[in-house]
Amino acid sequence: MSEFVIEPPKPVTLPVQGSGGLFPVRRVYCIGRNYAAHAVEMGHDPDKEPPFFFQKNPDNLVVTKEFPYPAKSEDVHFEAELAVALKSGGTNIPVGQALEHVYGYGVALDMTRRDLQGVAKKMGRPWEIGKAFEKSAPITPLVPAQDTGSMNSGTIKLTLNGGLRQDGDLNQMIWKIPEMISYLSEYFELAAGDVILTGTPAGVGAVEKGDRMVVTVDGLPSLEVTVV
Ligand code: MN
Repeated sequence: MSEFVIEPPKPVTLPVQGSGGLFPVRRVYCIGRNYAAHAVEMGHDPDKEPPFFFQKNPDNLVVTKEFPYPAKSEDVHFEAELAVALKSGGTNIPVGQALEHVYGYGVALDMTRRDLQGVAKKMGRPWEIGKAFEKSAPITPLVPAQDTGSMNSGTIKLTLNGGLRQDGDLNQMIWKIPEMISYLSEYFELAAGDVILTGTPAGVGAVEKGDRMVVTVDGLPSLEVTVV
């Protein structure tokens, strides 16, 4: 007989492109305002202040072609992001060793109930209600780092119904991937299975049911999602 007193939840996993293998997800960290032009469009100073992070739930990551328009919002935004998946972790990881902990990369959307996030910001409340809802992070299968090479630069784009809406370059990140890993590891113990969403370039905007989003990052599979 199982020692579980209720049925345990299924582990959250992401497929690895071309391998049939599965990457188990432990935690999801997301950085805010990591591209200067996006910080400006959200009404903030783009100077390099210390980064800040929020979390989504592991099971918010879903490999899917459909994003269900969430309840309780009338202003749901797309944010195209590069996802970094860790194969190991620790605390106080030096910047120079941070990339040794990366398993691979994926393309993700940090879908956001912007109206609820806006209320939370204004009232000094946590962001989960705007960020960490069901299926809020569509993502592609992961590609191992040995197959992608460094992801320091390369285009990151989002089209909405075929129109270009976000058009950035990974080299525009204010906090680079090794710096993000190092910084996070000073505050949290990072571990295998952690996923970091690395922020979005300028051009975020609202979606409606029926809209089709396509996110592309150089060297990775494209993420194609329809709002239903
Ligand atoms: Mn984001």
